[in-house]
Amino acid sequence: MRPELDDTHDPSLRSWVEAANDDANNFPIQNLPFGVFSVDGEDEDDARVGVAIGDHIVDLAELVDARMFPGLDSADEPLIDDVAVPMLNLLMMSDATRVRGIRQRLSELLSEGNDELRKKKKLVERALVPMEACELHMPVDVGDFTDFYASKHHATNVGSMFRPDNPLLPNYVHIPVGYHGRSSSVIVSGEAVTRPNGQTKADDADRPSFGPCKLLDYEMEVGLFIGGEDNELGEPVPLRDAWERLWGVVLLNDWSARDMQKWEYQPLGPFLAKSFASTISPWVVTRDALAPFRCAVTSRTDADPDPLEHLYHDDDQSAGMIDMTVEVYLLTEQMRKKKVDAVRLSSGSYRDMFWTPGQMIAHHASNGCNLEAGDLLGSGTISGPERESRGCLLELTWNGSATDPKPGSDRSPIVLPTGEERVFLQDGDEVIMRGYCEREGARRIGFGECRAVVEPAPKA
Ligand code: MN
Repeated sequence: MRPELDDTHDPSLRSWVEAANDDANNFPIQNLPFGVFSVDGEDEDDARVGVAIGDHIVDLAELVDARMFPGLDSADEPLIDDVAVPMLNLLMMSDATRVRGIRQRLSELLSEGNDELRKKKKLVERALVPMEACELHMPVDVGDFTDFYASKHHATNVGSMFRPDNPLLPNYVHIPVGYHGRSSSVIVSGEAVTRPNGQTKADDADRPSFGPCKLLDYEMEVGLFIGGEDNELGEPVPLRDAWERLWGVVLLNDWSARDMQKWEYQPLGPFLAKSFASTISPWVVTRDALAPFRCAVTSRTDADPDPLEHLYHDDDQSAGMIDMTVEVYLLTEQMRKKKVDAVRLSSGSYRDMFWTPGQMIAHHASNGCNLEAGDLLGSGTISGPERESRGCLLELTWNGSATDPKPGSDRSPIVLPTGEERVFLQDGDEVIMRGYCEREGARRIGFGECRAVVEPAPKA
């Protein structure tokens, strides 16, 4: 099941696009994530598929026009049809060898020492656009959005706040719990998020009321985009094939209205507390780019029961997780005015999750549900065992309680450099998520940013 590493993963590979060789750059030649962009001043309708390299974007349509992908481009399936469009869906639907081929060819063309593209000065000028001159768009026309709950640490923390006697429900260790979200409100980084109005009920109130959400939170998640050949309705995806249905990964902020959630979630789960906005990062890091960072599941211990057979595969347990660090930063309006840098609230790792992407995919399709290219699966809030690895404010501030029962907890609420305090988000706050994969023997790759400012609720 583990894909072989190829020349594109060689950590010593450098690019003639200088910025890509900077250790701190998110987009070295080993990454090559896909997105949708337009150049400032262009009509938005001209947005098209691009690949990030250093501080530039490769305009794939220009390279296809210049016949730089001879083996991949055919009269039957012209590559231009897949890349001169404002979404990655067609590439996601296509045979995996096509995307792998594009990645391998780009790696070749952009490598230091390769002059094939570099010497075509006019083409380079057209096909390599400075990122700062571009606008990044929603990369995918999202089909369905399902959000999971794959961190046992998160589930236990949240459960112990609301059900102290019974924090983790018995199904948790057997089923990757999830719910169906809303794809129409999945938006791209940079778009503002409007605080939702909704129905809430205070514990001491007789009846509920309607108005602006008071307990607005973020959830640091990873978004998994489905690709490859759709499984027909009625046909499951075996776990051994599930990794092949993962097309790529983004950062995902699953904005959550905790007060609305608390009132509405029983008995059918989250609804309006989640569907007002979910923000994703604009660059989709491909499955191939993630190959060096696949790792073993570590959060399932001997104390946990073995998963049922359809959710267990040796390869999945040994290499089905992703070693990926995720960080959340906060920048308030006052901090922006005083030119104070964003403050890091947490740093966690996808490695700490209980359920793998493969198990989530196999479980989702185990009843015969057809997963389609362009579908998005949220991992659920990524929280680890330490306080600093908690991926939402609800956990970081322990729901605003002064007595966080976890050891080492000493700052609830969070105090910012301006002296401001936060338990939940205020209007004007900007939440910034970053992520990267790093390990010995591989070149570090980054996911860029997923950010958005909270705007006030409309008059209720
Ligand atoms: Mn979530």
